[in-house]
Amino acid sequence: MTNKLKYFVANWKMFGNLASLKSANKINYYISSKKKLRSHSKIILCLPNTLIYFFKKNFHSKFISLGAQNCHQDEKYGSYTGSVSSYMLKNVGAKYVILGHSENRITGESNNVIKKKIKSALNQNLKVILCVGETLKEKNKKKTFSVIKNQIISSLGKKFNTNNIIIAYEPVWAIGSGKIPKTNKLETIFKLIKKNFKHKKAPVVLYGGSVNAKNIRNFSSVPDIDGFLIGGASQSPKKFIDIIKNYYK
Ligand code: PEP
Repeated sequence: MTNKLKYFVANWKMFGNLASLKSANKINYYISSKKKLRSHSKIILCLPNTLIYFFKKNFHSKFISLGAQNCHQDEKYGSYTGSVSSYMLKNVGAKYVILGHSENRITGESNNVIKKKIKSALNQNLKVILCVGETLKEKNKKKTFSVIKNQIISSLGKKFNTNNIIIAYEPVWAIGSGKIPKTNKLETIFKLIKKNFKHKKAPVVLYGGSVNAKNIRNFSSVPDIDGFLIGGASQSPKKFIDIIKNYYK
């Protein structure tokens, strides 16, 4: 079954400074002016940690939720130079956290570490956006679903609370590459994820990887896609807003 709300989640990655808050506010302004759109869309900005508090404090947005892009596995404080915990993120206004992004998995973040991070985030009442997806090599070996299944089961188990966990299917080969999966492949994968991980209700499952204002219409024919995790294109308010506009065209 398809979840009614469509999610548009921005992942700014390691981009943005205080001046970029103006960009974030343009998105806020747009959403604030679109009552109908707000009733069926959920907008989440996963900003760099340095901007979360400033956005919250300056714009008091009722329509945009804030998220972070990673956290340390220890929940509160510790001697982990350079790290930020889920408690600290919650404290500055984050409601969501992206975990298991392939850009972090590639540096050695294991399913076991991701599992601990998820636990710490949930303990702090953060909602988790768990990224899963296969590499090109795994795709060519037709291992897409077995990779996703293993990533989900090893960090969440077979049954998880579908109210707190959002799955983001992000094929590694599609991230930042301009390539996107074929529609029929997406249909199959989304159906499999929803069917295999249904617990009371089907999880919210997003697609991520090279989404832009031109290709967004390709995804609207796949009803099981509950929304999008948008990297590069989300750093420009115009591009991000155009994605939302074109999706509903
Ligand atoms: C991402 O990094 O989560 C992502 C989807 O990136 P892009 O949209 O740039 O492919």
